[in-house]
Amino acid sequence: MTARAQQIDRVVIVGGGTAGWMTAIALARLLGRLGLSITLVESTAIGTVGVGEATLPQIRTFNRLLGLDEREMMARTAATIKLGIEFRDWGRIGDRYIHPFGTYGEEIGQASFIDYWARARAAGKAAPIGDYSLPIVAAWTGRFEPPKPDDVRQPYDFAFQFDAGLYAAWLAELAQQVGVARREGKITEVRRKGESGDIDAVVLESGEAIEGDLFIDCSGFRALLIGDTLGTAFEDWSHWLPCNRAYAVPCANGGDHGPYTRATARKAGWQWRIPLQHRVGNGLVYCDAWWDDQDAADCLMANLEGEAGAEPRQLRFTTGRRRSLWQGNCVAIGLAGGFLEPLESTSIDLIQSGILNLVDLFPGAAIEPAARREYDRLMDLEFERIRDFLVLHYVANQREGAEFWRAMRTMAIPDSLAEKIEDFRCRAILPEYAHGLFQQVSWISVFLGQNVVPEAWDPRTAGLPEAELATWLEGIHQRIARDAAAMPDHLDFIARSGAAF
Ligand code: FAD
Repeated sequence: MTARAQQIDRVVIVGGGTAGWMTAIALARLLGRLGLSITLVESTAIGTVGVGEATLPQIRTFNRLLGLDEREMMARTAATIKLGIEFRDWGRIGDRYIHPFGTYGEEIGQASFIDYWARARAAGKAAPIGDYSLPIVAAWTGRFEPPKPDDVRQPYDFAFQFDAGLYAAWLAELAQQVGVARREGKITEVRRKGESGDIDAVVLESGEAIEGDLFIDCSGFRALLIGDTLGTAFEDWSHWLPCNRAYAVPCANGGDHGPYTRATARKAGWQWRIPLQHRVGNGLVYCDAWWDDQDAADCLMANLEGEAGAEPRQLRFTTGRRRSLWQGNCVAIGLAGGFLEPLESTSIDLIQSGILNLVDLFPGAAIEPAARREYDRLMDLEFERIRDFLVLHYVANQREGAEFWRAMRTMAIPDSLAEKIEDFRCRAILPEYAHGLFQQVSWISVFLGQNVVPEAWDPRTAGLPEAELATWLEGIHQRIARDAAAMPDHLDFIARSGAAF
């Protein structure tokens, strides 16, 4: 018998939430030539986690790769535009800043814009850093237009705020059109192969067994395969990110409808606000060791900007990730693999990285240990970099009076993060990453937004005399204010959204 080149050809996806359906459509469209048979099992009786509305610009790369029409997506998911995340009260109470999806200022010489800005700031000649960012000024004035590809002075990107349940439903339709088979039913047993311990089949309540060569665990917090069946250890990161509960509630449109997500620090956690076309998504992430459930729920309900559309729903979680996301013939994607609180809207992005790394390392004749190791290495990098970035928001706080925030300020942090803070404070130095989430501009936004300001800067900035530096900065500030004012209103843009991106 001759060996088939493609022996891993029966893929079974367990779970039909955002992770499951994103995986299904991506494998079907990106690996179509391998002739895979893809089956997705979901249980409407169990349902999905039912939250997750804010995304990052990388979702546009995913949409583009898969040939998904974003105008249709916006209509199907009641989406709005997101130019960044506003953080309120994270440094000192009363502070506000936006982490934008775009750069600050312009580059003119060997030193970076931030070095020039830091020098001007120390001399009292600079406006707040946000005034030098087009997406920030546009977001705060409620305006949006897609970036012009030829504008090299102020490159920026954007993401979407949408109903992730509707996104999954739309992808489910498209995936089934390209041959993904959907099975409805509750998995009650997972069958394993004797020798290798690999998964052989999942068995539904009805008795039907669905066999496969590769299983993707998208079963959410249940982690049915990677956790329950294979027993892969969970690495708990609660000592750095102790929030472990959330309440979520939608409300009617009200208040500001600018193109951004908001995260407001509260007594022992933070509240999100995500405006969609037809409603606003709200939630409060908190730590039960520092905040009583009822008080937390009351705080959320007292801070809605429109009439509540339901009772608040509680979710419980532990921050961390599986030690390995690819065990034997099982890959975990989505909440089954790990969870980091949604402060920087990273979960859907992690799903996307999980999928694209799997596509790049997809097995042929057999599952190679090298591919598994590389997958874990790449995903570790993503998880750890996001973790450090989230911890920064907590540790760099100067809030007075609240015990939770004092504890966060003084906690022991990962060495990798301690070094980054020190390097930025001393001399505006930041590592440059070849790829992945949260490049320099993101770190700069949070550092400066939370009052971690460089004490020294590149001496080459001295090549520009102080008066010229001030005039140059003022010119950028005015141009950005003009460019933002010329953009259409965010909601008008959506209303006439035949608009091309
Ligand atoms: P789920 O949606 O839980 O889906 C699990 C699937 O597995 C379901 O279809 C279920 O039926 C199926 N299943 C489970 N057990 C069985 C079984 N025995 N038999 C058959 N089927 C089974 N992400 C963002 O990117 N942005 C955000 O703003 C954001 N906010 C969040 C806020 C909170 C409070 C939380 C908890 C998460 C948030 N997330 C956010 C994360 C986001 O919700 C998830 O990453 C995303 O929805 C993917 O979930 P999932 O598909 O992994 O799991």
